[in-house]
Amino acid sequence: MVDALSRDVPVVIPIAAVEQHGHHLPVYTDSYLLGEIVRRVSSVHDQDALFCPLQWLGNSDHHMDFVGTVSARPRTYLDLLRDLGENWLRHGFKRIMFINGHGGNDVPGKQAVFELRQAHRDRSDLLLLMATYWGTGSNGGPGSNALTFVQNEMGHACEWETSMMLALNPALVGDYRDADPVAPGNAFLPASRGWTTRDRSAPGHIGVPQAASAEKGEVLFSKFSSEVGSLLDRVIAWDGQSWEG
Ligand SMILES: [Zn+2]
Repeated sequence: MVDALSRDVPVVIPIAAVEQHGHHLPVYTDSYLLGEIVRRVSSVHDQDALFCPLQWLGNSDHHMDFVGTVSARPRTYLDLLRDLGENWLRHGFKRIMFINGHGGNDVPGKQAVFELRQAHRDRSDLLLLMATYWGTGSNGGPGSNALTFVQNEMGHACEWETSMMLALNPALVGDYRDADPVAPGNAFLPASRGWTTRDRSAPGHIGVPQAASAEKGEVLFSKFSSEVGSLLDRVIAWDGQSWEG
């Protein structure tokens, strides 16, 4: 029962998406993958954190050229996340962590916690966080192990996502071996380019789906769950004072 919980218990809000994932993965991929990571983390933290149901509607406007994508436009999505955070603050909880599984949610997610903090700027007891699961480790890549990963960063319907779907439910994976590699492309660094998925990929995926395997998927699941779990450990251990803890 939620009311019996200490208000120092962190509230974890998983946020994902339903959007095109090339020709070989389901539109629900980001929600499946984040759901599995959160399931693993919550199995360890079932007594010391509160896990909200996964929010499957994300900001996916950049994928709207592909049928099957659904999206809350960025400002709608920002307000949705901000309201979710506000709900838990109203109930007295102080530690809120959005855990994200979709790239398009990154900017609105960060903006939501920024705005929440400004709205409650006189409080000194709040910890408001947004993290994306593949960005929670010190090293973004899969690191050294017996498997040879060809990607060292997250793509889209790529080696990493296809591998995790193969590990989770291979019946949902189409013919990824026919999906030719699509390079990440020129990001116009150091600028941040406004782009649509069609600017970058005709089939909809970005990366190397052909390199996927269920074994790699399990390596990635275990890496990401342990990194998200470590972050949650820090949120639980936060002493209410120091920036790092
Ligand atoms: Zn995805």
